[in-house]
Amino acid sequence: MSIALNIEERLIPDLHRHKGSDLVVHSPVDGSEMARLRADTSEEVDAKIAKSVQAFRIWREVPGPRRGELVRLLGEALRANKEDLARLVTMECGKLLTEGRGEVQEMIDICDFAVGLSRQLYGLTIASERPNHVMQENWLPLGPVGIISAFNFPVAVWSWNAALALVCGDSCLWKPSEKTPLTALACQAILDQVCADFPEAPEGLSQVILGMAPQGELLVDDPRVPLISATGSTRMGRAVGPRVAARFGRSLLELGGNNAIIVTPSADLEVAIPSIVFGAVGTAGQRCTSTRRVIVHRSLHDKVFETLKSAYEQVSSAKVGNPLSDDTLVGPLIDRDAYECMQAAIERIRPVAEVVIGGERARTDLGESAYYVKPALVKLSGSTSLLDDETFAPLTYVIPYDTLEEAMDIHNSVPQGLSSAIMTTDVRDAEYFKRHSDCGIANVNIGTSGAEIGGAFGGEKETGGGRESGSDSWKAYMRRQTSTTYFGRERPALAQGVKFDL
Ligand code: NAD
Repeated sequence: MSIALNIEERLIPDLHRHKGSDLVVHSPVDGSEMARLRADTSEEVDAKIAKSVQAFRIWREVPGPRRGELVRLLGEALRANKEDLARLVTMECGKLLTEGRGEVQEMIDICDFAVGLSRQLYGLTIASERPNHVMQENWLPLGPVGIISAFNFPVAVWSWNAALALVCGDSCLWKPSEKTPLTALACQAILDQVCADFPEAPEGLSQVILGMAPQGELLVDDPRVPLISATGSTRMGRAVGPRVAARFGRSLLELGGNNAIIVTPSADLEVAIPSIVFGAVGTAGQRCTSTRRVIVHRSLHDKVFETLKSAYEQVSSAKVGNPLSDDTLVGPLIDRDAYECMQAAIERIRPVAEVVIGGERARTDLGESAYYVKPALVKLSGSTSLLDDETFAPLTYVIPYDTLEEAMDIHNSVPQGLSSAIMTTDVRDAEYFKRHSDCGIANVNIGTSGAEIGGAFGGEKETGGGRESGSDSWKAYMRRQTSTTYFGRERPALAQGVKFDL
């Protein structure tokens, strides 16, 4: 792709240094080869971690607001490179260009958030039970933060972690998805340029480690990296969580979702249908927050299914295509594996499904190795454990319910707990849903996907329990210290009235 080469040259001036044969990067847009890159050896990973420890020792001494200034400048550099970076995101992971731009905007937003935060890393002053004592809770920089990211948000997830970690006084080591290393190198090059003009920024403050699971494991197992923030499948989290715990490290896990929307009898379908369609087929169903299950009150079930069916047919006939084109609503799946997983899920459900539409390839004219699919819609008579696995594709199950309690049981029956939504105009149903959804995100009259950076993002159960981005997520990147100071002149009293007189 000639357009890609130009962008890569502009964004990654030292690309030639990374050339090799370990990682073959294909564009899902047309299946073409974008680059062949070298993975880091274990010695190189070791050296990068050592450098990150040195960088941390220098960076933690820089005042918080100055650290915030570096992140402010990163945000400015991202603004300047927004269009190029968005196009590279689209070409490397296949999401629509508008979403590529949205992803870079999310990076800019989190930088702005982190700049403000750099003056607000507040601790507490706590009343002491003893005279002339003061107790404080302080938040201190933690150390090098290992960031492992997934292909579907190739740059935003890094920025959610890195912008916060940097203002908190930490250094960063980033192992991006092996499917999207170019966007990672582009972000690193942008940050390198900002750091070059920032005298307090030490060498190695932020580094990229290229590779696959083994390179990630080197980070995961290394006691010099106190926090591993890992985003990806539940399968990956199941491997990473126990390994980090075994060395008493801290992990922040952002894993798979299996998200549902409940449509109650009072739902406004003008609001509900577009939210369901965007959530289910947008980003070709490749968001952790994508809508996979639609749980509809029996009184509206047939109407909702038929309306969705006609929307899916409309999308399939004219709106599946090149994500760089303005007319497209559904771009490609990331690769052949993703296509095969979708086919396997459809074959598993077919024996118990009432109706299945879509799922087949929508077109092959953009490249035989580019996997464009017709969004699939499945009508079920009830829920089944076949829905327990997340299929990372535009595959939606519609399930009827009779009572809201039953809808909540169906909703909460899957192992994951990331995002959820209810479509209702009844405030009692909305509040009941918010109290009973077992997810980290519970929306009313908006879909499951498309979160803003201001809230803490993450989910429960097999989604991993981590929270990143807004609210007080920054606390994961610092260590909490309780400190008691005695400022009297007598012998200090002991707590709880304990006597120890010499
Ligand atoms: P993946 O699990 O295949 O890979 C994610 C990352 O983990 C990659 O960088 C990979 O190299 C690394 N990895 C894999 N095994 C590892 C191991 N044993 N040790 C260390 N690192 C390892 O996921 P993917 O296919 O790139 O992304 C899709 C998945 O990510 C979906 O399940 C999606 O729901 C999830 N996701 C979750 C969130 C969230 O915030 N909850 C956000 C985006 C994506």
